[in-house]
Amino acid sequence: MIRWPIVQWHEIPSHRRTTRIEEVGATRLDAKFSHERNRSTRSSLLLPVTHSPEQTIASDRTVRLLDTTLRDGEQAPGVSLSPDEKVEIARSLERAGVSVIEAGSACTGAGERQAISRVTDLDLDARVTSFCRGMRGDIDLALECDVDGVHIVVPASDRHVEGKVGTSREDNLEKTAELVAYAKENDLWVEVIGEDGSRADLDYLEELAESSLDAGADRFCFADTVGHTGPEHTHEAVSRLAELGPVSAHTHDDLGLGVTNALAAVSAGADLVHCTVDGLGERAGNVALEEVAIALSHVYELETLELEELYELAQTVARATGVQLPPNKAVIGENAFTHESGIHTDGTLKDDKMYEPYAPETVGRERRLALGKHTGRAGVAATLEEHGVDAEDDEVAEIANRVTELGDRGRRVTDADLLAIAEDVTGADRERVVDLLDVTATSGGAVPTASVRLDVDGEERVASGTGSGPVDAAVSAVREALGPMADAELESYHVDAVTGGTDAVVTVEVTMARNDRSVTVARSEADITRASVTAMVDALDRLLAADQQPLAPADD
Ligand SMILES: [Zn+2]
Repeated sequence: MIRWPIVQWHEIPSHRRTTRIEEVGATRLDAKFSHERNRSTRSSLLLPVTHSPEQTIASDRTVRLLDTTLRDGEQAPGVSLSPDEKVEIARSLERAGVSVIEAGSACTGAGERQAISRVTDLDLDARVTSFCRGMRGDIDLALECDVDGVHIVVPASDRHVEGKVGTSREDNLEKTAELVAYAKENDLWVEVIGEDGSRADLDYLEELAESSLDAGADRFCFADTVGHTGPEHTHEAVSRLAELGPVSAHTHDDLGLGVTNALAAVSAGADLVHCTVDGLGERAGNVALEEVAIALSHVYELETLELEELYELAQTVARATGVQLPPNKAVIGENAFTHESGIHTDGTLKDDKMYEPYAPETVGRERRLALGKHTGRAGVAATLEEHGVDAEDDEVAEIANRVTELGDRGRRVTDADLLAIAEDVTGADRERVVDLLDVTATSGGAVPTASVRLDVDGEERVASGTGSGPVDAAVSAVREALGPMADAELESYHVDAVTGGTDAVVTVEVTMARNDRSVTVARSEADITRASVTAMVDALDRLLAADQQPLAPADD
């Protein structure tokens, strides 16, 4: 086990701190962070944890999170955010209680400056900043956007000092001090980031931090720019830097050590951690905001964010960036609170805490039971109850067997599969409310158009629609045909190609909700439009049937 020595703020020599900590703009900083100090402590939803006496991060410390999704996150391959998307994400970050929002890099161009200005115009409690390369022009461009502060990025390792910037260690110290003084003259909050700091000579890194702070910088950031280092080195470097003044940590996940290094930095005295939502960022990404927040809260009882906002924030960023949430990711992944295994489901139904470190509601989520190969009787019974289906014990056992068989064939078992099996086993006959008889769609060149023929309660209905593509057009045709009956919401829509060729069979999985009830259906076809429409019509049929023939009420 790694033991990090306990280093807290009070161990920093007071004569060094008083001259440097947040001198300029201290009042503004106080106002910006005041809401954090008043925030209620640990949520009652969190489960009790036992801590070892050698706790390395004290729960009464103040640690803040800086989010750089809008800058470092946007540098992830293929990600580009519009000004509207940046504004929406910034609002979500504010709701989550992030202390500093790095809104972009003002030198990138006029569009980026417009986006940063839109964020500064929101007048958020969070400090809004811009990334600046080590040049005066970048600071001027940041000032145009009316930011509260800047991150001045200067080389720290010899590789960057000599190889990238082509300067010398001495000149770099001098130039950095000049830039800091210039930014401070313009009333900016200033953080100096020593780029590639984890590969820098530690003595030189100290010199760079010291001369930055002497020139008036509010803090210095230890940057593991390429995600190269481990917790021991991070701890040593940050401990030495924290002797000089306030320190931030910027960690990347190339070795999967993003959170570990961030925690090592905090235990060594760093009090501001740079993160991105969903861990977006160049290469393997930055350390994930939600992971740092939950780890500090759950393991160290140190609160940094409004945790219940985290899931919505993650989804907002996923929608805006088009980067899907990995299913197995901590906090935000679809499977993070989903139980399929029979043993786990049974245990969880007996006691919520049995197979979860903390309650899903802590981070704004709900627990889910999934059906599949590993599902046992308890999971099947619970899901049947959710759908208002009554079944005897021996019937539940038979349904569970058939669910396992279906799962054995490598499939996820959807609600619709379960209900079809249950009807078969219990012999409950059911008339379909809606059935798809035919669908045709055209696209290419003109406006995509589709027409559908449905059987609705024995009556044939035909309708057509247009949309952004054939699937969209077909769905609007279905809605047109059903009229007010189609008042269901599409909660999720996933397409998977089963094989990699253009003749691939695709599986479309949809979740639709109506009147507090939701149902998942998957359909596989070679034709994506047909698969999509069939899945949606089947889901609508289930939802409408549930309302028409109220079975035993589900126990909430
Ligand atoms: Zn970075």
